[in-house]
Amino acid sequence: MSSKMASCIFCKIIKGEIPCFKLFESEKTLAFLDVNPLSRGHALVIPKFHGEKLADIPDEDLSEILPVAKKLIKATGAVEYNILQNNGTGAHQVVPHVHFHMIPKPNQQEGLG
Ligand code: 5GP
Ligand code: ZN
Repeated sequence: MSSKMASCIFCKIIKGEIPCFKLFESEKTLAFLDVNPLSRGHALVIPKFHGEKLADIPDEDLSEILPVAKKLIKATGAVEYNILQNNGTGAHQVVPHVHFHMIPKPNQQEGLG
């Protein structure tokens, strides 16, 4: 294991060393609620393969990401939403393990937000 992986907060979540509110898990994908949500239901969908930027992740480790994001969006009932993925500190990436934000727009969710 590389030292980057050992210190990676999302790798620790994958290993169960840090708790999370888990929404979906498979062999290569994990989805959980963002600890500091921009809206109700803000989730992160991540490949279990550790890599800092999108181009570092093998295609097969990305194959479930968008299908899972679609399921989560449907579960929130959101009509409008953002899928965001930041690469590099200059692009607002804080956690150096590839993650896709799924951010429902609260103004379109009946009774939520
Ligand atoms: P970035 O700016 O890197 O694209 O976004 C990182 C996201 O990870 C932020 O929205 C932040 O709230 C979330 N985050 C950071 N640490 C943790 C954590 O320990 N648990 C969870 N669930 N989310 C985290
Ligand atoms: Zn990691």
